[in-house]
Amino acid sequence: MAETYLNLIDGEWKASRSGHTFPDVNPADTSDVVGHLQASEAEDVGDAVEAAARAFPGWAKTPAPVRGKFLLKAAHALEQRLDEVADLLAREEGKTIGEARGEVTRAVRILEYFGGEGARLGGETIPSERERIFMYTVRQPLGVVALITPWNFPIAIPAWKTAPALVSGNTVVLKPASQAPLTSLRLAEILQGTGLPKGVLNYVTGSGSRTGTPLVAHPKVRALSFTGSDAVGREIAQVAAKRLARVQLEMGGKNPTIVLGDADLDTAVECTLNAAFYSTGQRCTATSRAIVEKSVVGPFLDRLVERTKALRIGDPRDPATQLGPAIDQNQLETSLRYLELGQQEGARLVYGGERLTAGPHARGHFLRPAILRGVDKHSRLAQEEVFGPLLAVIEVDGFDQAVETANAVRFGLSASICTKDLARALEYVQRAEAGVIMVNLPSAGIEYQIPFGGVKDSSSGPREQGPAAVDFYTETKTVYVKY
Ligand code: NDP
Repeated sequence: MAETYLNLIDGEWKASRSGHTFPDVNPADTSDVVGHLQASEAEDVGDAVEAAARAFPGWAKTPAPVRGKFLLKAAHALEQRLDEVADLLAREEGKTIGEARGEVTRAVRILEYFGGEGARLGGETIPSERERIFMYTVRQPLGVVALITPWNFPIAIPAWKTAPALVSGNTVVLKPASQAPLTSLRLAEILQGTGLPKGVLNYVTGSGSRTGTPLVAHPKVRALSFTGSDAVGREIAQVAAKRLARVQLEMGGKNPTIVLGDADLDTAVECTLNAAFYSTGQRCTATSRAIVEKSVVGPFLDRLVERTKALRIGDPRDPATQLGPAIDQNQLETSLRYLELGQQEGARLVYGGERLTAGPHARGHFLRPAILRGVDKHSRLAQEEVFGPLLAVIEVDGFDQAVETANAVRFGLSASICTKDLARALEYVQRAEAGVIMVNLPSAGIEYQIPFGGVKDSSSGPREQGPAAVDFYTETKTVYVKY
């Protein structure tokens, strides 16, 4: 019988008032229930927000370097538990154990980075036009912030929101995604274990509609940082706008990898394979369109198919596995639907796309990654986010057409170009409608110490991560002193 896990409210682990729970299921083996979590409702959310509001004045006046020390302690504690937390991540989310270890390590680095930020959280001094006037700015926290996170990076994203929020002096209510909530519970547990004052960090699980909606609507929540689908992001922005709460949204992508005729083909194939299929294509920065110059499309596809065929698909906790399952039946069906739709729209399936149901795949949501060529850039397959291991290959005549095609979608998160021509690479950097550009690298695979975010329908609000992250979680107070 799987264990039941509680919410963290006001420094205590508590059941939801209704006592209802929901299961967290292993996507590689749906007979394995990883745990039961609280199905929280408006009253539980209210308790969490009120606790955070009570804790705010004390936390806000705690010196920032002292706040940072809690994060540094948590980094150390998480690193000690890396193996256990990575295994849990692979089990509940389905990414491979190697990727899971990478993600937990990233969460450790994020905690370290923002732990240090406590001692750097400064303002500016600016010269006055007048004599004997000293002008400077300081950063102030906002109050209670709500953090709503997706399942696909179940510890890195909660960490990269929680750490800058806390070090800036805010108190937090974290609501993780229902498909992979336990890894972030470990993060909350570790942070609380550092001796954080009660109410500074609150953690509530439950569905988007019954837990997320009241959290977004709560009048004491001063800022909301959300990562997830753009449909939900838009709803959140509208609700928050009515009370002028600050909002940061990181949403979907339809990221391109451009392969120019002069590219090193091995590099181009490895970048595409990694970005399109690793993590089962379930990364917001995944490549879903390969935009390839006609002169090289034949050899590029031959090598890509050969490399894709060799990928080992199976139990994410087996170190030999390279590709895990889709997160759930819905996501698997979405991929299958787009596979069929793409072919109806005229694309040709070059490889893959079969549902895997035998032997080690019998109890999970497994799909062989699919490559489609002859995709029309206006088709739905080329325009809409699938969030699965489907690659649409679009053939182009040259650089200009490649850039136009890459930009011809409503999203703009990340983009990659493979070429040996530095001038073309840098011209692409300038013309690309994307927030993150990779040259001769996969479109996915970001680091924590540099800003991250997109343009167009992919993002709204200040950047996350790196030194820019505290901009969202603080406001500037301007001071004039006559002496
Ligand atoms: P969703 O938008 O469905 O869910 C994200 C979070 O919002 C979950 O915690 C969810 O809860 C919650 N939620 C759902 N509905 C509401 C609501 N009405 N009010 C408040 N909260 C709500 O996205 P997914 O979890 O399915 O994640 C996949 C999406 O996330 C993809 O579109 C992907 O591109 C995007 N993403 C973007 C990233 C980026 O940085 N740009 C990074 C990672 C993912 P519950 O789970 O209970 O439904």
